[in-house]
Amino acid sequence: MNRVAQRMGRINPSPILAVVARSAELKAQGIDVIDLSIGEPDFETPGNVKAAGIKAIQTGVTKYTAITGLPDLRKAIVEKFKRENGLDYGVHEITHGCGGKQVIFNAMLATLDEGDEVVVPAPYWASYPDVVRLAGGRPVIVPCDQEAGFKLTPDQLVAALGPKTRWLVLNSPSNPTGAVLEADELAALAAVLRRYPDVMILSDEIYEHILYDGRSYASFAALFPDLRDRTLTINGVSKAYSMTGWRLGYAAGPHSLIQAMNNVLGHTATHTSTITQYAAIEALRGPQEIVVERCRAFERRRDLIVGLLNAIPGVRCLAPAGAFYVYPSIAGLLGMVRPDGRPLQNDQDVALYLLEEAHVAIVHGGGLGLSPHLRLSYAVSEAMIQEACQRIAAAIARLGSGARR
Ligand code: PLP
Repeated sequence: MNRVAQRMGRINPSPILAVVARSAELKAQGIDVIDLSIGEPDFETPGNVKAAGIKAIQTGVTKYTAITGLPDLRKAIVEKFKRENGLDYGVHEITHGCGGKQVIFNAMLATLDEGDEVVVPAPYWASYPDVVRLAGGRPVIVPCDQEAGFKLTPDQLVAALGPKTRWLVLNSPSNPTGAVLEADELAALAAVLRRYPDVMILSDEIYEHILYDGRSYASFAALFPDLRDRTLTINGVSKAYSMTGWRLGYAAGPHSLIQAMNNVLGHTATHTSTITQYAAIEALRGPQEIVVERCRAFERRRDLIVGLLNAIPGVRCLAPAGAFYVYPSIAGLLGMVRPDGRPLQNDQDVALYLLEEAHVAIVHGGGLGLSPHLRLSYAVSEAMIQEACQRIAAAIARLGSGARR
């Protein structure tokens, strides 16, 4: 009677939700847990954006819009792509959804037939493989290790592509590593993709504004105009404008694909909240200084967390070039033994130990496609980063060496 569909057996619960659930239990016991597990800026939604949402409610523009969204929203998105990315799209080439997540889901549902393949470099944002599986596709996971800066190489791409490949997923800056694909690295991947005309490129650019060391952002479709017609550029307001709860993501791509995605949207969410659409128009068209200021704050936090983590024996952390995550290797901790005698056999054990002993919530790399690593989000205050790293260092100092036992 309570049978669920077979497709549910293909997907995993979010690895992040498991940490969130355990840390909620600890918090309920009155324990002060520092949460570095969630990919969410700690900043407020900017005041002008909140005001636009409030105004929408107060003036009563709270009904359905067209499935494609308010005409002004689509125009604001077209303007954004032009102004910030040098991309020329018409409103008929724009779609939106309840977050970038839904836009990606719509793309996969609209394009994948049973058994079609999607190349997903690992480590990955946890939703990519499961969204592909839900849509009937098969994720082809390509591990990109720390020595390669967590970046997909052209040779790896060639090896992963096959007759059933429909999409390559690119996510730069990356969640969970913060790695940024530089223009020459993208050019090498584009050269491979030119030899495979049936493969589409999903360029997830949601962290484009969180970019360090003076880098400027180069959007995939703008760098390679000849690949524009098979590129879907994903973006959203969640990360740039601290609007994670408002739920608006958007994308630009070829009209036939956008039409199919809008069809999925129309039969699922219909459109995102009308109030959110008004707020997002203000976010995209209003003053942008706050985005730059917040990026500088993230950069200071990056410097702090990378320094503190690398000072801990057994932890090795690259300095990310963007986003707000670090993805240190904890290979040096495996085999060590907890004070209660239990050995740390994998990164999940390490994450659990740090949650229970240091009261710091962290996501383990096993859930994100590349072990043994941890993902720490540093979208929290510098004081919290200091405190979390002190607790982690102290908990690690309490480990025994397996060899001595
Ligand atoms: N893409 C990446 C790489 C992400 O990390 C996230 C959120 O964590 C999203 C897309 C989707 O964000 P949202 O659905 O809030 O727009």
